[in-house]
Amino acid sequence: AYVPLARIVSIVAAKFRVALSKSLALAAGVFGQVAHDEASRIGPLLKSMNSQYTGPGAPNAVTGMDGESVLTAATVDTLADQSMPLCMQQLHQGLKRDHKLKHQGRLQFGLFLKGAGMSLEEHTLFFQREFTRIMTSEQFNKQYSYSIRHMHGKEGKRASYTPYNCMKIIFGNPPQSGVEHHGCPYKHYDEQNLSALLTKLKIGSVADRDAILAHKKDGNFQLACAKHFEVSHPAAPMVDGVNLDGVGNHPNAWFSASVSYHNAKNGGGAGGATNMEVVKQEGAVAM
Ligand code: SF4
Repeated sequence: AYVPLARIVSIVAAKFRVALSKSLALAAGVFGQVAHDEASRIGPLLKSMNSQYTGPGAPNAVTGMDGESVLTAATVDTLADQSMPLCMQQLHQGLKRDHKLKHQGRLQFGLFLKGAGMSLEEHTLFFQREFTRIMTSEQFNKQYSYSIRHMHGKEGKRASYTPYNCMKIIFGNPPQSGVEHHGCPYKHYDEQNLSALLTKLKIGSVADRDAILAHKKDGNFQLACAKHFEVSHPAAPMVDGVNLDGVGNHPNAWFSASVSYHNAKNGGGAGGATNMEVVKQEGAVAM
């Protein structure tokens, strides 16, 4: 039959809608059976589907050519200075200074590290190294190692929790000043403290810092963060292999874009990785 070009889309859409309705009805009939079959690989995935974050900047594991994560207990300090967004740099600094983090900070930072590809073993090693500066290994194991294993889906419900995105961090509980280090500095710091921090970290020129602060004053915290990325990664859109999707929406997107930028510029990242690649994690669930 002759079909005018203008009608093609509506005919295909109608056909697709009918096929989709049939498949959904079929899926609804067997959903309970498949989703509650804990032994099958698809059951947990189906049950968590409605809470997965799949938007720009969904969690990325950053790996080297050998397929291993570039983020380890040995590289985390260098990569924090080089490639972490301000929120995670502040948590890293807080951990190094206080040798501990409060609950919200451990969750925000720990899930970020996990999402960026840090293994359970390296995560435990890194936290243990810091925490045992002020407590014994036994105390650390008793009070903190369970929650790290829980984050990696090895305890409790064995859910695989995803890192927080910017909206969750920005609208989450604000940190208690001087005691807690979680949150988003663009949202939770006052202008004076943020300005002093940007100057201390030598982020961009005075004009760049003014532009970042102007976004903060306007309540555009994510634009402030994207501007921070822009001024500290000059000409990033021109660099091959740098995916800027999600920078300013997800701390893990910021991190993976920054690592790939430095990798491309230096011919090898701070973690010693060459030809770094970003691997989407499977089966991750929003907390
Ligand atoms: Fe972190 Fe997002 Fe805030 Fe940037 S905007 S500092 S990535 S929470």
